[in-house]
Amino acid sequence: MAEIRLENVSKTFNNNVKAVRDLSLTIPDGEFLVLLGPSGCGKTTLLRLVSGLEKPTEGRIFFDGVDMTEQEPMPRNVAMVFQSYALYPHLTVYKNIAFPLKSKHMKSDEIDRRVMEAAKALDIEYLLNRRPRVLSGGQRQRVALARAIVREPSVFLLDEPLSNLDVKMRQELREVILNLHEKLGTTFIYVTHDQTEAMQMGSRIVVMNSGLLQQIGSPQEVYNYPASVFTGTFIGAPKMNLFASRMKSINTVSGGPEAKGAQWSVSLMGNRFALPLERAPYDDPEFFEGKPVILGVRPEDFKEDGDPDQPYIEAKAVKVVPMGASLHIEAEANGKTFLTVRDNHTPIEPGDELKLPVNRWCVHVFDALSEKALCKSVYKKLRPESGEQS
Ligand code: ATP
Repeated sequence: MAEIRLENVSKTFNNNVKAVRDLSLTIPDGEFLVLLGPSGCGKTTLLRLVSGLEKPTEGRIFFDGVDMTEQEPMPRNVAMVFQSYALYPHLTVYKNIAFPLKSKHMKSDEIDRRVMEAAKALDIEYLLNRRPRVLSGGQRQRVALARAIVREPSVFLLDEPLSNLDVKMRQELREVILNLHEKLGTTFIYVTHDQTEAMQMGSRIVVMNSGLLQQIGSPQEVYNYPASVFTGTFIGAPKMNLFASRMKSINTVSGGPEAKGAQWSVSLMGNRFALPLERAPYDDPEFFEGKPVILGVRPEDFKEDGDPDQPYIEAKAVKVVPMGASLHIEAEANGKTFLTVRDNHTPIEPGDELKLPVNRWCVHVFDALSEKALCKSVYKKLRPESGEQS
């Protein structure tokens, strides 16, 4: 088991591709951390840097406080599991699982004990005499996981291990991997580009783009309080709607926008409304009057917030798509098309007039230039039913 610390780690390949840029991160011992981001954002490179298969161009990597930056993979004692399973086709399942232990010249009774224990944990005892070619994808990945476990590594590195499997098998193996993590209590770093998988599995999620760490937080934090337009639109399905707007002060207290307690308004599809007082800008409000911003509203956040003065958007349904439990509605208001969702029992058809409430606690305000979040998050207000309201 190990705590991993990355300090200002960068990796530039010979072709001048900057795969990882100045990334600092501490992964506590025993955490299940997910690296999430689009293809090419540097997830695999980061994993390979931790494993020792790649060396950083700059920065340091520590395992339990010990500088491992220049160390080869072996002393790091990490186990990797890949999308491709990487099993030896000519060996039985038993021999595949035993392979890393045989290479260490471990005694045969200890090998047998560990292989049987791992096979039991992965529920594959009945497969031990078979060869990989007669196994399903899900069974092969269970074997690959068993082979990783027997080494008793200090860290598990999993690189999109479920991408080759069908939806049902993916779901099943997610549970298997989470149970394994709970049982072993070892640090897991799990790479995926699938945000649903990340939300379901990670105790924390690292969102990456173009080699840069965009945001790190619990699944709830990154969903509720995206730090940038990128995170807001990458996490959540259907995707967050974006609208151009401008900030304006409402002089609720004397002294204008600079005064403590000044309130701000934004305009959404022709409707100007006040943001809750608690959602004031992070920075010096002096620069906010007339500031161009991007508003992010998730399709599911056109909903009641319990406030009698809640603003509404008058819209028209353009397209209605049933998606199992919900209806995805493409709507239009003030010349702008956007998406909203309703439950599938709502009788809505194209051409219907809609009166959509806007939950002002869930309207995300991003700087139009930097695309970074501008206004404070007020988590408790989002979940009044939890009794956490301030
Ligand atoms: P994917 O989800 O598609 O696997 P990723 O987020 O894991 O993508 P990486 O595989 O880490 O991304 O690649 C990050 C960038 O570094 C890409 O532009 C890739 O082409 C480049 N890259 C990766 N490995 C090398 C290499 N050995 N030499 C040169 N460039 C590389």
